[in-house]
Amino acid sequence: MKYLIETYGCQMNKAESAALETIFRERDWSPAEGPSEADVVLINTCSVRITAENRAWGRIDHYAAIKRERRAAAERPLSLIVTGCMAERMKRGIKTRQPGVDHVVGTFQKQAFGLILDATALGRHIGDVEESPAFIFSRSYYEAGAFRSFLPIMHGCDNFCTYCIVPYLRGREISRRPSDILDELDALEASGVREVTLLGQNVNSYAWKDPDGARGKGPADLDFPGLLRLIAAHLRNRGKDGIRWIRFLTSHPKDLSDAAIAVIAAEPLFCRHIHLCVQSGSDPVLKAMNRHYDSRFYLDLVKRLKAGLPGLSLSTDILVGFPGETEDDIEATLGLMREVGFSYAYMYHFNPREGTPAAKMEGKVADKTKKERLARVMEVQKGLTRTLMEARVGEVEEVLIESVSRRKKSEVLGRTQRDEMVVFSAPASRVGGFAKVRLLSLAGNTFKAEETHGETAS
Ligand code: SF4
Repeated sequence: MKYLIETYGCQMNKAESAALETIFRERDWSPAEGPSEADVVLINTCSVRITAENRAWGRIDHYAAIKRERRAAAERPLSLIVTGCMAERMKRGIKTRQPGVDHVVGTFQKQAFGLILDATALGRHIGDVEESPAFIFSRSYYEAGAFRSFLPIMHGCDNFCTYCIVPYLRGREISRRPSDILDELDALEASGVREVTLLGQNVNSYAWKDPDGARGKGPADLDFPGLLRLIAAHLRNRGKDGIRWIRFLTSHPKDLSDAAIAVIAAEPLFCRHIHLCVQSGSDPVLKAMNRHYDSRFYLDLVKRLKAGLPGLSLSTDILVGFPGETEDDIEATLGLMREVGFSYAYMYHFNPREGTPAAKMEGKVADKTKKERLARVMEVQKGLTRTLMEARVGEVEEVLIESVSRRKKSEVLGRTQRDEMVVFSAPASRVGGFAKVRLLSLAGNTFKAEETHGETAS
């Protein structure tokens, strides 16, 4: 039996698709080269913007049409499964709109995914599956052959930013059991993984409370700095074939504590890059977004991060054109960007998301103005990225080698701790390993480099 997975949306969805792929593989299913080979197509959807839903609908309708054609030609059946945020939001409404969908698997139904596959393999169809009362983390998020992996440590979000649908779709924050996180780190390491990104909508508010109290396996209560400490102690002295780098994503500024900064500073395991979403540099806009901080708080946090973690690179998300945003507000955003010096940013303009408070707010910004402001933000970021990269030329850095360059087979692509892409000459056999390189020049947003031996990374 063969499967095809299409994933849309954030890193959480990518991690969840990897976990669902493990369930296919456990049953000896193999990946299909294309739709014609597939027995099951799984579409993991995103609901964060209406454009993402429209794209998912395009794909669902496409596969439903293939399914009809196969049936008409009396070829082997195709089963269509939809999961992810859109499945959670619309539930059975997905099947009503597109009857070609066989199963809709919401966030709280994933534990039944194996049952659905078993029934499909036997040519049977099971009805709607029960929702479990609590979110259950998948056992493994390992992607076959990978040496970098995502590891969800939390699910959901309690923040209710006024523009965001996530808390309504994924529910309240749930923290994963620490011993399960350590077990999964061991399993990932044994599979060849060398870099792990701890994943959650807001990892800094990780808060484990053991229902068994002190009698449980592992600590009774644990916050994010405590989890980082636990992971660092667990992975210490693993040698060159162990997990060497840990990242985490996403950080909400209000919850990134000094205690967390101190743990990161003390442990070389934690990469010197933090994605710290700011969204806007204007205090009235931040308030309307319900972000729970103002620009002064954010800049003060950045100052503490830079002082505590020398060489740190910071990236961010910026949302322009929020209802009520004025010229002064956008200038404040540009000013904050320059003051922080982000290495890169995900920049987008506001689009109302049905079901969120911001969708009903007054003071809509005209489309033309939104686009014009977005272009200005992008231009400023381009300049910042360039300046920061130019200043790095000549430095020595360690990289994890990711792949062979598509342009030149004798070159490989690597990524630094600071999330910078580097290209240099090395054989394909080095992919998945670490190398020390000197940054020589820039080619777009990639450093050209040469491997050095025996020099210390700066
Ligand atoms: S922190 Fe805000 S933007 Fe991020 S997932 Fe939670 S509600 Fe959405």
